[in-house]
Amino acid sequence: MKKSISLVLVTWLFLPCLGLDVETIKQIRQKAEQYYPQALTLRRHLHQCPELCFQEKETSEFIATFLEKLGLKVQTGIAGTGIKAILRGTRKKPVFAIRADMDALPITEQTDFPYASRNPGNMHACGHDAHMTNVLITAKILSDLRDRIPGTIVFIFQPCEEGPPPNQPGGAQAMIQEKVLRNPLVNAILGLHVLPGIPVGSIGIRTGPIMANVASFYVNIFGKASHGAFPHQGIDAIYVASSAIQQFQSLISRFRDPKEPAVLSVGKIKGGVRMNVIAEKVELEGTVRTFSFELQDKIAEGIEKILKGLAVAYGITYRFTFSKDAPFVYNDPELTEFFIPVFENILGKNQVQKVKPMCIAEDFSYYSHQIPTVFFFLGTGDTSPLHTPTFSVDEKILKIGPMLFAGAAIAYLEGFQP
Ligand SMILES: [Zn+2]
Ligand SMILES: [Zn+2]
Repeated sequence: MKKSISLVLVTWLFLPCLGLDVETIKQIRQKAEQYYPQALTLRRHLHQCPELCFQEKETSEFIATFLEKLGLKVQTGIAGTGIKAILRGTRKKPVFAIRADMDALPITEQTDFPYASRNPGNMHACGHDAHMTNVLITAKILSDLRDRIPGTIVFIFQPCEEGPPPNQPGGAQAMIQEKVLRNPLVNAILGLHVLPGIPVGSIGIRTGPIMANVASFYVNIFGKASHGAFPHQGIDAIYVASSAIQQFQSLISRFRDPKEPAVLSVGKIKGGVRMNVIAEKVELEGTVRTFSFELQDKIAEGIEKILKGLAVAYGITYRFTFSKDAPFVYNDPELTEFFIPVFENILGKNQVQKVKPMCIAEDFSYYSHQIPTVFFFLGTGDTSPLHTPTFSVDEKILKIGPMLFAGAAIAYLEGFQP
């Protein structure tokens, strides 16, 4: 009787559980717990030295040093500050990649943490400090389990996710151009973003498009100056701009199929000289978010038509630029369906939430238009919104992210059959 119980127990422990056996999950969980104090130190150090788009020099050196100490093959200087580290397991193939972004934002931190930003005006207000820490701890856990990894794992640390200067490729594009997904040829890639509003210990995921196509538009409206008391002698660029902003919203409310999500927001307006001068020039900047390129094109054409109409009606001239930025992030259906039960086994079934597509953007999309990808949101609870001066992650996620990354990597290499 005793013998048969032991046999059942042993069989249960090593039973393949949707690509991941129970013993492996236990080991990963123990290691994430064991390395948690180090995760806190890493994240707080990275949080203190936020660096902007393509300037992540100190961050990059810190990460490379950590990865080299793990014995990984580390390549630095990709797209400037980007890093790729290779962990060889018991076989060369398949190759699975995990990606973190490294850049911070030009925001002045307003928290009381002893580890608040020491770079005035810069802040990790998008949680990329936590993203980097998650991948570093994942690399440490998987290095420990190297003998049990039937394939190769590539850790990617990319610069400049938050958006490059106009007309320059961002971090993901630049890394791809410098062949980060080659040598070894990466078969699939996984990424995450922290997200307030989802409880700590839960994630949000979906198959298909998960984040939006993003475009920015820039409009200059040129009128004619005159005295504010004689508006009929000028062409009021402010009046025309206000009309333009109102009419742009009709592209969402009147010209779009309501079943298809889309957003148009004008985020910046600048114009005029003083209270009693009819403004000669107004500049507008805005963003358009969609989940199809067709709708993106339709909205761009619509903006131009509205401007042409205003030119006829009021006699303005205009300059209009529409710039297509990151495309939508697409979660490969088969790969996502493969990972969902793996994540459920690690976190619990109710902790894996199926989310709707979100209109935020991620340049992870560039990977997802090259190879099969999965991207998910790591819940960070009830914190200030992303991109605000009081944003902070709940540090418990520094245990959860590595468990999910490490579990997914092993499950994929052991059992994914495309
Ligand atoms: Zn951001
Ligand atoms: Zn971000």
